[in-house]
Amino acid sequence: MANVNLSNVTKRFGAVDVIKGVDIDIDDGEFTVFVGPSGCGKSTLLRMVAGLEDITSGELRIGGRVVNDLQPKERGVGMVFQSYAIFPHMTVRENIGFGLTIARAGKAEKNAKVEEAARILQMENLLDRRPSQLSGGQRQRVAIGRAIVRNPSVFLFDEPLSNLDAALRMDMRMEIGKLHKQLGATMIYVTHDQVEAMTLADKIVVLKEGRVMQVGAPMDLYHRPANLFVAGFLGAPS
Ligand code: ADP
Ligand code: MG
Repeated sequence: MANVNLSNVTKRFGAVDVIKGVDIDIDDGEFTVFVGPSGCGKSTLLRMVAGLEDITSGELRIGGRVVNDLQPKERGVGMVFQSYAIFPHMTVRENIGFGLTIARAGKAEKNAKVEEAARILQMENLLDRRPSQLSGGQRQRVAIGRAIVRNPSVFLFDEPLSNLDAALRMDMRMEIGKLHKQLGATMIYVTHDQVEAMTLADKIVVLKEGRVMQVGAPMDLYHRPANLFVAGFLGAPS
């Protein structure tokens, strides 16, 4: 079970309160989207779940276990960033396997996992290429593959499509939706794109200035926004 629960979580950078007491409950296998304007704290929240950023106060549970003090690699999470963060001098195979290399996995295990990830992402015939020989969408798939091989119970995506052009973005959005159905993993996906939020999410968390404005299914927020901010961001045109 990989439910994710944030209870009264805050984050302070210096003298600035960036996350101001956030409660969010995410069910096992749910696709949750954090949406809100630039600077509202989406990346900070995701980085705290990943363990890349300390939590100033509050409690974070993954699969029922308090993980506030656990290292990123102990949390069972896999993160996919906005910039692809893949290595130009490595092949696709080496890039996807990178997380397993540093985890000291054996060669046979590593190859099997890389090939399985490549199959899921339909990249089997690209394993020997280098990133310069890939399209933008294929590069982003390599970054997703690197998360898949670690077999995380929670996937974290930070605006993974924002560097892609519009057509590719739509394709990759559908790919990520398929991936979620196929793996059944819990996914938290950060975006400031309303269309991505509306089409991918089981549940949307709308954030503003470090606070949760509303949580609900896409159609709930669309038809019954709690306030003008949510209405302006996601609501039906009136
Ligand atoms: P978003 O991802 O929603 O655009 P962020 O989580 O990146 O927002 O940032 C939220 C706020 O926290 C912003 O005001 C940003 O400037 C600030 N912030 C983020 N990271 C740091 C940091 N390492 N040090 C100081 N302030 C930060
Ligand atoms: Mg961000």
